[in-house]
Amino acid sequence: MLFGVGINWREELKSGYAHILKENVGLAALLALGVGGEAEFFAEPSSLDEVCEIFRLGIDAGFPIYILGGGTNVVFSDRKVEGVTLSARRLFRVCWDGELLTAEAGASMPMVVSEAAKRCLTGVEFAYGIPGSLGGAVAGNAGALGRGVVDILEEVTTVERDGSVRKWRKGEFSGSYRSCSFFSPYRFIAECKIKFQSASIEDVKRETEVFKKARVGQPKKDRNAGCTFKNPVGDSAGRLLDISGCKGLRVGGAVVSDVHANFIINSGGASGEDIAELIELCRDMVFKKTGVCLENEIKLLGF
Ligand SMILES: Cc1cc2nc3c(=O)[nH]c(=O)nc-3n(C[C@H](O)[C@H](O)[C@H](O)COP(=O)(O)OP(=O)(O)OC[C@H]3O[C@@H](n4cnc5c(N)ncnc54)[C@H](O)[C@@H]3O)c2cc1C
Repeated sequence: MLFGVGINWREELKSGYAHILKENVGLAALLALGVGGEAEFFAEPSSLDEVCEIFRLGIDAGFPIYILGGGTNVVFSDRKVEGVTLSARRLFRVCWDGELLTAEAGASMPMVVSEAAKRCLTGVEFAYGIPGSLGGAVAGNAGALGRGVVDILEEVTTVERDGSVRKWRKGEFSGSYRSCSFFSPYRFIAECKIKFQSASIEDVKRETEVFKKARVGQPKKDRNAGCTFKNPVGDSAGRLLDISGCKGLRVGGAVVSDVHANFIINSGGASGEDIAELIELCRDMVFKKTGVCLENEIKLLGF
């Protein structure tokens, strides 16, 4: 099929991809913060080939593609999100083979952590309590106390912007604090291999306990999307937000948690725009007070 500028991609999507696409899908229900408008097209592919097809069409026709994992670290605008929002939630196959796990992007991260523990496999305890999908965890190198998911990967399969498939072997990528060297908003993380080590159940429990304790002091009851900002080198974003007077700050239904200033909560009826505005307000207040410009950890999509 020949596409190009002027292609009616909306008609193409409706006729050729109806089996994996829905139109005008509300995103709020899919996000931990419960905010966001409607996706013009919402795709839930269940195979690598289907992901490749959407990317190929996207690059030929030039429509935007937004990737959604578990929705625990993103905020979508409340306006209509044009193009295709591609969810990984139907790509959740996992295969445990001794110390090696092969899992698709949509596999649940809490499931990986608990299943590894059940199998007396060590290596992923640091991700205890991190919600969302494996693909989302890799994209942002999710972790705690200096540890990150990228460090335990053996191999990653991605779908590139042009719809081709690429394999990344250990040594071809690296992770640093909340970032992964191959992350790109135009690259879909499709499958990961993780290598664990066998351990005693006591060792796994002991290690898990360390990371459980690190979670004390985070807001538990209210809807949030984890830390709003990354910690600047040698400091904590929460501390800077706190001394800048951000706790309790509100825009519409979005409020800076008074339990931990680096968490924004949806106190009810918040919009994506409320969250985005509150983030800017906090960044501004911290900059004025401390001279530090905080960098987002939460990803804003479709704005
Ligand atoms: C209560 C709570 C506690 C949290 N604690 C932590 C913590 O301790 N440490 C930590 O690091 N994070 C934490 N988070 C944040 C969040 O859970 C993690 O960042 C998580 O790994 C995001 O995964 P997700 O599937 O929800 O990604 P999403 O929120 O859906 O997406 C996040 C980003 O990754 C991209 N993405 C998602 N899937 C893919 C894919 N398959 N391919 C390419 N790109 C993709 C999205 O486009 C977006 O840019 C917390 C969140 C909450 C709500």
